[in-house]
Amino acid sequence: MNKQIKHIPMLALRGITVFPGMMMHFDVGRPKSLRAIEEAMAQDEMLLVVTQKDIDVDEPTQEELYEMGTIVHIKQVSNVKDSHVKVLVKGEMRAKILSIEDEPFMCAEVESIQEELSIDEEQEAMIRTIGELFEKYAALNPRVTEEMIHGILSIKNMIEVIDVIIASITLEVEKKQEILGCMDIKQRMYLAMTILNTEIEILTLQKGIYAKVKRSIDKSQKEYFLREQIKVLQEELGDKDGVMEDVALYEKKLSILEAPIEIKNKIQREIKKLTKISSSSPESGTIRTYIDTLLDVPWGVKTSDNSDLKEANRILEKEHYALTKIKERVIEYLAIKKISNDVETPILCLVGPPGVGKTSIAQSIAHAIGRNYVRISLGGIRDESEIRGHRRTYVGAIPGRVVYAMTQAKSMNPLIVLDEIDKMMGDFRGDPAAALLEVLDGNQNSNFRDNYLEVPLDLSSSMFIATANNLSAIPKPLLDRMEIIEISSYTEVEKRHISKKYLLAKQLKKHGLTTKNLKISDSQLQYIIGHYTKEAGVRNLERVLAKVCRRTAREMIEQGVESVRITEPKLNEYLGMPRYSYEKKNEEPEIGVVRGLAWTSVGGETLSIEVNIMKGKGQLDLTGQMGDVMKESAKAAVSYIRSKTSSLGIKEDFYKNTDIHIHIPEGAVPKDGPSAGITMATAIISALTEKAVKTDIAMTGEITIRGRVLPIGGLKEKLLAAKRAGINTIIVPKQNQKTISEIEKSILEGLNITYVATMDEVLQYVFA
Ligand code: ADP
Repeated sequence: MNKQIKHIPMLALRGITVFPGMMMHFDVGRPKSLRAIEEAMAQDEMLLVVTQKDIDVDEPTQEELYEMGTIVHIKQVSNVKDSHVKVLVKGEMRAKILSIEDEPFMCAEVESIQEELSIDEEQEAMIRTIGELFEKYAALNPRVTEEMIHGILSIKNMIEVIDVIIASITLEVEKKQEILGCMDIKQRMYLAMTILNTEIEILTLQKGIYAKVKRSIDKSQKEYFLREQIKVLQEELGDKDGVMEDVALYEKKLSILEAPIEIKNKIQREIKKLTKISSSSPESGTIRTYIDTLLDVPWGVKTSDNSDLKEANRILEKEHYALTKIKERVIEYLAIKKISNDVETPILCLVGPPGVGKTSIAQSIAHAIGRNYVRISLGGIRDESEIRGHRRTYVGAIPGRVVYAMTQAKSMNPLIVLDEIDKMMGDFRGDPAAALLEVLDGNQNSNFRDNYLEVPLDLSSSMFIATANNLSAIPKPLLDRMEIIEISSYTEVEKRHISKKYLLAKQLKKHGLTTKNLKISDSQLQYIIGHYTKEAGVRNLERVLAKVCRRTAREMIEQGVESVRITEPKLNEYLGMPRYSYEKKNEEPEIGVVRGLAWTSVGGETLSIEVNIMKGKGQLDLTGQMGDVMKESAKAAVSYIRSKTSSLGIKEDFYKNTDIHIHIPEGAVPKDGPSAGITMATAIISALTEKAVKTDIAMTGEITIRGRVLPIGGLKEKLLAAKRAGINTIIVPKQNQKTISEIEKSILEGLNITYVATMDEVLQYVFA
């Protein structure tokens, strides 16, 4: 042991003890201490640090300080604030305070103690024990980090190791100070061992206590869970009655259900399942919906068809005007049904433009036959499952529309309207048409399988009436299974009848009016039809009449009158200025202007086709919203003319120096189709030969490049259009003669129809 007396600046520490060999950070704020650091830094950077016994004392006297301190080497001083510095020191050796000077800064006379390194075997053994104990301690104390252990193990000085170990133990200052103050190495080692042992014991105890506490927390948590479970179970038990109530209700419904045994068994099984699962589980909801759906199907319920043909006929006639074909078909069905009960229920398809009464006649038919009526709207359906339902394994699965319709119908033999069957679309989700095939197939539909329902549904006694606007848009296989009945657009005469007898009567009733309140003549109705509607059917007409009714009712109230007579000015006032006017025939025969006939979705129209011939290079210009087919038709006409120049009296090379411009005015409605072929040819020939065309002539027919005239469609509407325009001579392809024979006499009345097979024949009639 090497002792020296030294005079050294000192500072008092609060609550910490610095040991030799130990690095330590602390803040210094007391002015005297700051001075002492300054002084130390000015000398050899050595400083004495001593722990004060009472941390509350500001300026401790010698008695208030521990006797043993540590001489440290100041490694770093950094300014924290003006009044504070942070000091990093390393403990060098123990020093015993002999005396203290207080002014101008603390300074002590000390005896510094440099301990010798030589240790004997016993001490060596003790040091190892201390090492082991420390490892034990470290394992128990999470605050001792790996780094701290490494740091300690790397210290070469064996005596220092003890100091550093003690320093790193969480310990009261007194205990630490005891070690610091102990100058007998062996004694110090004993002390260290005792301290470590005690600490280990305390930590072990602590751990045990902690585990116990934790266990008790775990236990209370477990209890909490169990209690929660009991709660759920109790709820279940309490709810059990609710389930049983439902089950009883289902059983009751099932007992009176007249379903096939297979279906009853199925429902029974589902009810049983319901009793076994929790009522709050999602599956329970799914099963209930399924049972409800199965119970909702009107198993075994059938209405009996009307056997009174006269009554049926009366109903059909009362509710709809014309529509003879369909009415007859229904009466025929009822007649056969009367003879043999085995008759197949027809599957009909009503094809015709919108508003001609397809849906409403179907409703009437249900009424006349005495069946329940349901409608399935197919327009825009893309998904097969819309028809056939989703499998029950899907979340949110629902039955298809057919099943839904049956539950709505409340009988197993309803009349089902498949509305807009031509507007279904197939895509990646499957083809709804394929599913419909099964519905409409007489051989299969007694066993129709809906994915959701899972049990077969007998549709064979249902009557199906499909409606469509466009025959060509109905998938072919579907078409094969249906009986097509075409409903064409109405003539003005028909519209007048319908409006007078049906639509107006319906609207008057709806508005609480009578014919005494609203007086309207046939010519006013005609005026409405001609000037406020332009449609194949009568849907708009009905709307316009509703408006007239509303305005009449208002006028009656406002003016306190009992009846209103409808006149043309009144209509203009009620409905605004006329929206449409008919194209009339030309006043004078003209060169290069010919009247054609066209069919559009809203009925027939006359088309004035105009041709201009100009000097040029043989260009053919086509304007007026012509479709591609129509354009090709124009080219065919030109080709025909070029091949016939000599007989037509046209210059052979006219096409080399002439431009032909064909135009169809009133191009708001796009026109397409080949039926303007002969009209365009006539107009071009008229323009080239400068021969005027008669005003009282209209024509329709497809032309081939060799001048043959081919048949066209929509003849009835076209004839009506010509009639409206005041044109009486009509040129029609010869092959359409048969179609003409099917058209009602009233339409043909006053028309002079000329049949042609070639363009040459056309030219015989047309020129003025
Ligand atoms: P669609 O189904 O062909 O598009 P709707 O059945 O909806 O046409 O008919 C439109 C309206 O026209 C309905 O109010 C209907 O009663 C009426 N209607 C159509 N045709 C007739 C007719 N021949 N007789 C009486 N009312 C008709």
